[in-house]
Amino acid sequence: MDIQTQIFTQALQIADPIYIDKIDFKDDELHIHLNFYRGSEFECAVCGAKSKAYDTTDKTWRHLNFFQYKCFLHFPTPRTDCKDCGIHQFTPPWARPETGFTLLFEAFVIMMIKGGMPFLELEKITGVYDTRLRRIVDYYVNKAYREKDFSLVCELGIDETSSKKGHNYVTVFTDLKTKEIIYVTPGKSSLAIEQFCFELAEHNGAADSIQAITMDMSKAFIKGASDFLCNAEITFDKFHVVKLLNEAVDKIRKAEVKKNPILKGTKWLWLRNYNNLSERQKAELQFLENENLDSAKAYRLKLTFQDIYNCCDNAEEAELLIQSWLKLADASDLEPIMSFAETIRNHYDGVMKYFKNRITSGICEGLNSVIQGIKRVARGYRNIGNFINMIYLRKCDLNLPRFPLPAKC
Ligand SMILES: [Zn+2]
Repeated sequence: MDIQTQIFTQALQIADPIYIDKIDFKDDELHIHLNFYRGSEFECAVCGAKSKAYDTTDKTWRHLNFFQYKCFLHFPTPRTDCKDCGIHQFTPPWARPETGFTLLFEAFVIMMIKGGMPFLELEKITGVYDTRLRRIVDYYVNKAYREKDFSLVCELGIDETSSKKGHNYVTVFTDLKTKEIIYVTPGKSSLAIEQFCFELAEHNGAADSIQAITMDMSKAFIKGASDFLCNAEITFDKFHVVKLLNEAVDKIRKAEVKKNPILKGTKWLWLRNYNNLSERQKAELQFLENENLDSAKAYRLKLTFQDIYNCCDNAEEAELLIQSWLKLADASDLEPIMSFAETIRNHYDGVMKYFKNRITSGICEGLNSVIQGIKRVARGYRNIGNFINMIYLRKCDLNLPRFPLPAKC
């Protein structure tokens, strides 16, 4: 065996009865032709018993690039003639049946896409169409997802996020203990929660085991949770509560800017976290706060409300502070703030639960931005299933093939 053949035999971990017959470098391609010794026996795909080749079909697999060369393996693949099972296609150790890719190539694809590389970028590197690359990812994600065990899931974050520009949404379920996304489904109705319960059962989980949920105050989620997750205590997520208050502040600014042009271009001063403002913005805000503005009044109420969330570490004290805040809101004479206060009263128990259990929806603390990042990289998903699989790939702890594979190529 010449040195070149020896190196490739070792690198590809080719073992008897298969051997490298010929190695061809052609333009930017490397073709490795494999063969087997005549009279060799192969495992029957059904029972595993060894039997002789009945006939062969020439097959080709795309392998990892070898430096700048695209590498292909060729092998006259036998069909075995098993005395018990009849004639069956043999699958060589470097591939899954009928894929045209080696396992190592597939593991490489998974690694790159999981790492955040866009499919079109990987298409350029490998020369393999993105639709074929997607099929690899879909196969492994679906397989690994089916194997997931949800028997220990008991605390849940439920949130919606947009899947496309406009009004397409998916509902995302997060295990608050492990911080992983465990289910994503199109839509944001109560049906999403029903579907989650079906999926939970498929993975050894039980709707009755869910003890705590954090979510927004949407009617659909409240209905879904009370219909299908009957044992769960609902906490309204603090980020969503503050978001509603921010919307109220913005409504007031929008109405006021029509009468008072001093407010033009100040939207983010009132909404952004104070510590994230530049010195110039802080000075501008301070100036505006001294003006007699409804927006400034609403802003101060918002800060007071946020302070309760940020500083209050005991439930009784929080209760007193929220109660006095609600009175201030009522007295403010600002309709959007009064309406927000009404929403808080209507969802009082769920809002106050936060001060007892301190759970927030994991997705608000970063998962949502990861999901939006996935969306941006793909410039919008035409196929919602692909989008959901990408979320699982990045944010569900899946048992995926690792690169490099420990065993044979
Ligand atoms: Zn057999």
